[in-house]
Amino acid sequence: MKKSFIYIYNNKEYPVEVTYKMKKSISYRLKDGVFFVNAPYMVTQKRIKEGLDKFAKKLIERDNLNKSLENDKRLFLFGDEVKIEGDVATFSSGEKMTFVSREDLIDKLIWIYSDYMIERTRYYESLMSIVPSYKVKIKKMKSRFGSNSKQTHTISYANHLYSYSRDILDSLIVHELAHHFFFDHSKNFYSVVYKYCPNYKKDNVKLKKRIFK
Ligand SMILES: [Zn+2]
Repeated sequence: MKKSFIYIYNNKEYPVEVTYKMKKSISYRLKDGVFFVNAPYMVTQKRIKEGLDKFAKKLIERDNLNKSLENDKRLFLFGDEVKIEGDVATFSSGEKMTFVSREDLIDKLIWIYSDYMIERTRYYESLMSIVPSYKVKIKKMKSRFGSNSKQTHTISYANHLYSYSRDILDSLIVHELAHHFFFDHSKNFYSVVYKYCPNYKKDNVKLKKRIFK
């Protein structure tokens, strides 16, 4: 059994579609400006409106947020676009993840990226016979992609590089680790870089031009 009515919130009219079911509690959701309510058979319209008075604000805010997220700039992880539908992000691998805001989603992309950078730094350290291993930091860096601090034996990577493909990120990791052997950007330095990253030149151009893949 279905019924509909109009609910007014902040001088705006919202259609409400009520579906009566064999259930114990009332549930509310908002999609494209329409409230969908599932309610037990015995519930009155007055009772449903009381619930809307309580939940409308939150549901409208969330609907607006999701709309702005959908219209916002596209997000990429490891070179592939992250598909966003409502509060669900789908990665190129098919894996899905929920989030509460764009900020939250970007934080989560940075975590995934951080894990990768740490893991790959360890991988290249062993390949390049670098001991002891470096401390790895992911931090806000505006003008540089990464840095190697000899003093603190720390490699830092900029936190906004999650959009780039793994190959491009690897080229940055190799660059920073090559500074373990040569602290300048000399021929010797680049001979180390190219040994472990033969496509370094291409990858580095992409990094600088913000070409993700
Ligand atoms: Zn350098």
